Amino acid sequence: MKKKIILIVFVAVSIFTGIFLYNVYSVPVLMYHSIAQGAENSRLIVTPESFERQMSFLKKGNYHILSLDEYVQLLRENKKPDKRAVVITFDDGFLDNYTDAYPILKKYRIPATISVVPEWVGRGDMMSWEQIRELNGDELIEIASHGLSHCLLDTLSKDSTIRELRESKRVLEKKLNTVIDYLCYPCGNFTPFVKELAELSGYKAALATHPDARTALNDIYAIRRIRISQSSDNMLIFWVQVSGYYTFFKDRRVKRK
Ligand SMILES: [Zn+2]
Repeated sequence: MKKKIILIVFVAVSIFTGIFLYNVYSVPVLMYHSIAQGAENSRLIVTPESFERQMSFLKKGNYHILSLDEYVQLLRENKKPDKRAVVITFDDGFLDNYTDAYPILKKYRIPATISVVPEWVGRGDMMSWEQIRELNGDELIEIASHGLSHCLLDTLSKDSTIRELRESKRVLEKKLNTVIDYLCYPCGNFTPFVKELAELSGYKAALATHPDARTALNDIYAIRRIRISQSSDNMLIFWVQVSGYYTFFKDRRVKRK
């Protein structure tokens, strides 16, 4: 009798845990910036060696690496992926995305979205139009808008916000001869009104950073992302970040603050 009760409790706890984990799982969307040396000096830099180790880990671990398009479709349908999945994104359009990250993405056949700032193109350590055009020609790469000038959209007037959203889309579409479907809020800053304007400007979805649990996990105009920095050199940390539960627990932590 005692054994039977233990078994029933065990099965009940397992079912409850399974349902809980299924419900709180969300596809981790990784946010990279620069892939270069000097990661110890900036949270925006990951070394090419670490980046390759992380991409190789995802491939060997049989993660399903979704394009942003595929992920947004899942969110629209309120579906979970069939197996552990992950989405890769880069912000700002650094030159090393072309010289260092792209060869690794190609090697492992990993899709990624790169958000660029039209007014920064060709400057110092940023990619040129020629390089962005080449990336855009590869089916692995999706180019997104990161605003016209990287101004923080939650600080601008309505007219300036509209200009940042529409003009960046227009310039990118003209220069790349493509349709720009996605927006990435500069520094992840947005308001409910900015989200509305993004939708009205023709974007299918928008990437945020970590909106402090203010928005729903499946909000396609506030897609949460996980910043990958030097600390993710530790593969145990990276493994937790790509587990699909990191965002849920981070949301709880932010709420308690
Ligand atoms: Zn940025």
